[in-house]
Amino acid sequence: MVLDAPRKPLHPLELLDPTPAAGQVLLRVLACGVCRTDLHVVDGELSRPKLPLVLGHQIVGEVVSGGERFRPGARVGVPWLGWTCGECRFCLSGQENLCDRARFTGYDLDGGYAELVVADERYCFSIPERFGDDEAAPLLCAGLIGYRSLHSAGDAERIGLYGFGSSAHIVCQVAVSQGRSVFAGTRAGDAETQEFARSLGAAWAGDALAGPPEELDAVIVFAPVGALVPAALRHVRKGGSVICAGIHMSDIPSFPYELLWGERAIRSVANLTRADGDEFLALAPTVPVRTEIELFALEDANEALDRLRGGALRAAAVLVV
Ligand SMILES: [Zn+2]
Ligand SMILES: [Zn+2]
Repeated sequence: MVLDAPRKPLHPLELLDPTPAAGQVLLRVLACGVCRTDLHVVDGELSRPKLPLVLGHQIVGEVVSGGERFRPGARVGVPWLGWTCGECRFCLSGQENLCDRARFTGYDLDGGYAELVVADERYCFSIPERFGDDEAAPLLCAGLIGYRSLHSAGDAERIGLYGFGSSAHIVCQVAVSQGRSVFAGTRAGDAETQEFARSLGAAWAGDALAGPPEELDAVIVFAPVGALVPAALRHVRKGGSVICAGIHMSDIPSFPYELLWGERAIRSVANLTRADGDEFLALAPTVPVRTEIELFALEDANEALDRLRGGALRAAAVLVV
């Protein structure tokens, strides 16, 4: 499924089979998760995708050939981080997620909305046996970047998750298993999502803009809605933090300095490191994380994207190939 230009639907196209270069594996795609980032690319909100482009950076695939790290038939995952330079100051200091020359799967590199894909084997992960192909797909970005965001929240005990979609539903399970209290913020009146959050162990679920009845230690903002940032600042205690987990957000409205005062902090979380992936994929089966998924055929990728844009998906959308 190929994107030719922003704001145009993807279309099915027969491409030449990709050939793995040295250090790359050729994968037969089994499943590929749909991420909000894909939507930002289609909608032209991320400005420099390779075009034409095959989207998709939550790939579960089976090794066909190439590389040395995995045997043919091994099941591997390909995340958003597809390549880093290994020599810039970020790469050299354990912050490869910030690499100046990083290349991203389904953005700079063709991704997994396809039958075949090639990937640099150094950035692939083994998929834990416990998870089926479809169930594993959302772990690779929703789970992984959610986990990095949770890590940024430090030891926050009362944690808000604002925008309760694919990522938050995984982070909620991890946070609850760590003994934290989760406060799920949704659109006002979204009773179905609030009920879903409670079913995953959230202590409170309600309107994110209004906030919960008690003060929080941290809030992770998953929804791409800038107005949630000052709202979240109002809801955290002194010294608390607001973490923006998405790659794109509408403008943050101006707000009185008083909301930031008291050593409150705002930060973003960008991309992932391979260490995040290793840690999270080791942790996920022990929680155990259960991903709620809705399956779409590869050729129905546009429908999956439209449903995500319209807020009509409760679960994580996964394309099965
Ligand atoms: Zn993603
Ligand atoms: Zn680098």
